[in-house]
Amino acid sequence: MRAMVLKEPKRALQLRDVPKPKPGRGQLLVRVSTCAVCRTDLHVVDGELPDPKLPLILGHQIVGRVEEIGEMSKGPQRSDSRGARDAPAFAIGDRVGIPWLGWTDGDCSYCRSGRENLCDNARFTGYTLDGGYAEFTIADARYCFHLPERYDDVEVAPLLCAGLIGYRSYRKTGDARRLGIYGFGNAAHLIAQIAVHEGRELYVFTRPGDTKTQQSAKSLGAKWAGGSDETPPEKLDAAIIFASVGPLVPAALRALAKGGVVVCGGIHMTDIPSFPYVDLWEERVITSVANLTRRDGDEFFEIAPRVPVRTRTLGFPLEQANTVLDQFREGKLNGTAVLLMDAT
Ligand SMILES: [Zn+2]
Ligand SMILES: [Zn+2]
Repeated sequence: MRAMVLKEPKRALQLRDVPKPKPGRGQLLVRVSTCAVCRTDLHVVDGELPDPKLPLILGHQIVGRVEEIGEMSKGPQRSDSRGARDAPAFAIGDRVGIPWLGWTDGDCSYCRSGRENLCDNARFTGYTLDGGYAEFTIADARYCFHLPERYDDVEVAPLLCAGLIGYRSYRKTGDARRLGIYGFGNAAHLIAQIAVHEGRELYVFTRPGDTKTQQSAKSLGAKWAGGSDETPPEKLDAAIIFASVGPLVPAALRALAKGGVVVCGGIHMTDIPSFPYVDLWEERVITSVANLTRRDGDEFFEIAPRVPVRTRTLGFPLEQANTVLDQFREGKLNGTAVLLMDAT
């Protein structure tokens, strides 16, 4: 099969003809249709995340069809912790979504307390497991999703990470009425739609001077949009930071009302500069979001088609993955890039 392979960080991916993987016990062999590109892919290629599997096939927003099913374990499927759920059943030909969380041990203190996103032994698609920049991939069926029918294979791909992890970040803001979002990229664009749908007041911060993105945020229903160096007209109850820019943390803290929370929604961020304690005082909180639980996905895929959350996508053939990553790094993509396996 054709695959774009990362041999080592800081090198371009190579188009290779590699053996088609074989599904093991409990795994699905999936014929990949689309795979959306995530900023995390960029962090892996740039060597900003430790210890990736090498060589590696990137990609963790995978949509495809079940081609073959490995032997399934007998007996009732476990829904053993509050973060997990009954394993979905798949048949040959079913459409399937494969997310970032690829496997957990189900047994550590995190898994047992409904926090499988923090599992000590978790494996991640397109990072410590091979992902979807390829014609086929394998995935543990218990971590896969059935996808809402209202979306086609291209539209739905960005929901699998930008959507899911964005949703987890959003949920961490509780019932905040005034919600700030720093960095209006793919995840922010999706979550903003849910926030507005749920009646939150949305305040969007972009790079200073990026009036085009500010306009786009307003057209989605943001009450206010401005540069990250500006002060919003109201104090915020919560802020989510999607940009990987550490200095935004103290900036967001200063925009919060008492008891407010800053949620860092990315997997990697530059260093956070020091700030006076008074900015944190009065029960303000800084937290981060790591990975996702299957429950997050089930909730999100139930809500997304009802809003409905719409994605902005740009399709590219698989072979153009390097070009896509370069354009992403340079901030030139005006939507989520989605690799198409049968575009050639
Ligand atoms: Zn665990
Ligand atoms: Zn991602």
